Amino acid sequence: MRWVLALALLARLPLVAGSAADVARAIRENSFDRDECYRVRDLTLIKEDLHVYLTDGYLIFSKPVAGRPIAAVFLADTDGGDGEVMLLPPDSAERRSLATYIDSPNLDEHFRGAVFLFTGDVYDALKKQLPDNPANKKIPELGALMDEQWTSALRNLGAGYQTRLTLDLLGWPASRPGFLVAFFQGIKLGNFDVVFDPSSSEQILAGQLTTRDSRLYFDTWTSFAARSARLHPAPREPELSTRDYRIQAVVNEDLSLSAVTRVKVTPAAGGTPVAPFEIAREMAVTEATVDGRAAEVLQSDALRVNLMRGGNNLFLVVPPEPLRQGVEYEFEFHHSGRVIHDAGDRVFYVSARGFWYPMIGQQFVSYDLLFRYPHDLDLVTPGEVVEDRTEGDWRTTRRRTSSPIRMAAFNLGNYEHARLERAGYVVDVCANRTLERALQPRPQPILTTPPTAVMQRRRQSDLVEAPVPVPQTRLQVLASEVASALEYMASRFGPPALPQLTVSPIPGAFGQGFPGLIYLSTLSYLKSLPTSRDPAALQSELFFEDVLQAHEVAHQWWGNRVTAATYRDAWLMEALANYSALLYLEKRKGGNSVELMLDSYRAELLAKSASGQIVDSTGPIVLGPRLESSQEPRAWRSIIYGKGSWIIQMLRRRMGDERFFSMLRELMTRYGGKEISTEGFRELASQFLPPKSDDPKLEAFFEQWVYGTGIPSLKLAWSVKGKAPSLRLAGTLTQSDVGEDFSALTPVEIQVARGRTITRWVRSATDPVTFTVALSQPPLKVALDPHYAILRR
Ligand SMILES: [Zn+2]
Repeated sequence: MRWVLALALLARLPLVAGSAADVARAIRENSFDRDECYRVRDLTLIKEDLHVYLTDGYLIFSKPVAGRPIAAVFLADTDGGDGEVMLLPPDSAERRSLATYIDSPNLDEHFRGAVFLFTGDVYDALKKQLPDNPANKKIPELGALMDEQWTSALRNLGAGYQTRLTLDLLGWPASRPGFLVAFFQGIKLGNFDVVFDPSSSEQILAGQLTTRDSRLYFDTWTSFAARSARLHPAPREPELSTRDYRIQAVVNEDLSLSAVTRVKVTPAAGGTPVAPFEIAREMAVTEATVDGRAAEVLQSDALRVNLMRGGNNLFLVVPPEPLRQGVEYEFEFHHSGRVIHDAGDRVFYVSARGFWYPMIGQQFVSYDLLFRYPHDLDLVTPGEVVEDRTEGDWRTTRRRTSSPIRMAAFNLGNYEHARLERAGYVVDVCANRTLERALQPRPQPILTTPPTAVMQRRRQSDLVEAPVPVPQTRLQVLASEVASALEYMASRFGPPALPQLTVSPIPGAFGQGFPGLIYLSTLSYLKSLPTSRDPAALQSELFFEDVLQAHEVAHQWWGNRVTAATYRDAWLMEALANYSALLYLEKRKGGNSVELMLDSYRAELLAKSASGQIVDSTGPIVLGPRLESSQEPRAWRSIIYGKGSWIIQMLRRRMGDERFFSMLRELMTRYGGKEISTEGFRELASQFLPPKSDDPKLEAFFEQWVYGTGIPSLKLAWSVKGKAPSLRLAGTLTQSDVGEDFSALTPVEIQVARGRTITRWVRSATDPVTFTVALSQPPLKVALDPHYAILRR
């Protein structure tokens, strides 16, 4: 009776064990069902705004996975064969975005062939139409050929989406319609993708995988909420909410990181069979439990999806039984990987600064972080040190955060510290005791990871000419500068994300500000270079010595206390952080330094692209990360940081300083611990305009500078007529270099007596605009926009 026993054992195993892996494998190893091959005419596939017409050709479905076909291939190989895809973006901004890539505001493309991957009702919807046309018939003899020709493409594309498809096939979340991704071979546009993903906040996306200068990009042509979501917008609540992260991590001798992460997870809906998480691609999740019971983990590498998700991996946890609504579960993960890299001479580069542990979005949660690491190193994370001991070759440090934060980063090195306490906040600045190889007199290229945040082009010769710098020399200075910046910003915006702030070095020309922990370019630690008269060198100096660190300090508020609602609002965090850095620069070095930075941002925005257009015209700032496309790779940085700073500067000039600073304070009060959208910011900012302002809701301002593009040239001509005391100044403001509807509210300053000026705001237009000002005495000086109130050529 041995077989009975075996069956009994099997029956006791959880029903879903191995199911995610099985589903994913079936997707990767899928092939076509030769009996499901058809000659087809006039089939349509409609997903809300997306219309696909299989006008004339052959269609074959894949074999079933989890009970139903999940893929199909259409080929327009017949006489007069044709397929067509149509997508009409719902608003002018998305039509403009699409037009910058395909020279048309709407997608209407005929295609030779297409591969479809799907969950939900696509198979049934297509099959149902077959009897409608007598020309549609089964042709199994072609099935074999199509199967042979297309199976490897099916498997490649399937592998790229296996986690996403598996998530749906396991039943997450049951209430949503199915997912669809279509890969088209367009007649004019070449290969491109269209995605319909109900779990995304913008369900429809069209774009193209492409390379430029041997770097891979996913160009998002257009992305928007599908019709039903536009008509009935649903509140954006997380499906799984998390709290109370406890992470125990070991930095091994070989620098690999092994960690056990525990977190409490509560599902918003019942019967949740699978939980999706994100983690850096360098990290492998080897094991997971839910309330102490083994859960299945499915993790895979998927290039396209990762490019769209900002480089992180989607992975799935399948608990032994579906999660119940409102019940809190303890998830435990074992994960390890190479996220720490040796940059030479005991200087380290942490590549996965966020997402080195499993996360669901970025929710405000508390952290308890325990690290075990080689005793001759320092390891820094956010929060207050509650334990720090060395035993033999190992050091253990434990920290806890005193308030919820959005993510916990870490850094390590052989550090020298400078600690300062200022206004109740503790600043700990760490410097490497040695220089990474790249900064030593004979630089070697070591950094292969592209900098992701603020970066700058410092000429290599600057580094070579500099005397061998000792990082500690600037340590005390740096600590006091960071503390001053923190103190200044706290006085302006209120308390930061956490009362302790650690600043630690990262090899590279960029910085990144996480709650309680800042990564600062090692260049910021170097001894001051002699001040040069060359503006580029001076800007570089200002950037590394003042702006970068203050920018990262400012992220303690912008991005870590107030957060952006969606990728379209992310510009606001960068713009506010960078402008806060400029405010601090202004306080320390005066307005001229700020003007110098604004000049350099303007120059970057006015630089010509390969297409002959200026960088600014690549797209509006609200496109956020979509600006980092193959079209103009510089655009993202120039627009987010440079134009973003200009937008805040222009608002400041419209409001005046007092109202502007009240606005920033109110922004923090109203949105601390919350998300803000671009529209929410517009509404708040408009409340701080002086009474009776032109454009009182700032709608024209945002339309132009935030949702639109364009940098005008403005010219002022003026003359004075009449006799004192009844003089009349007549002026003409002429605008050029921008589109038809452009119009900028520009100040004209008339100095009538020493120290007394009249400011008249004049709105420019396509045609020259005239204005008059009554004066009692001749003006000493008339100036157009003398104080950087308008971004102009
Ligand atoms: Zn930033």
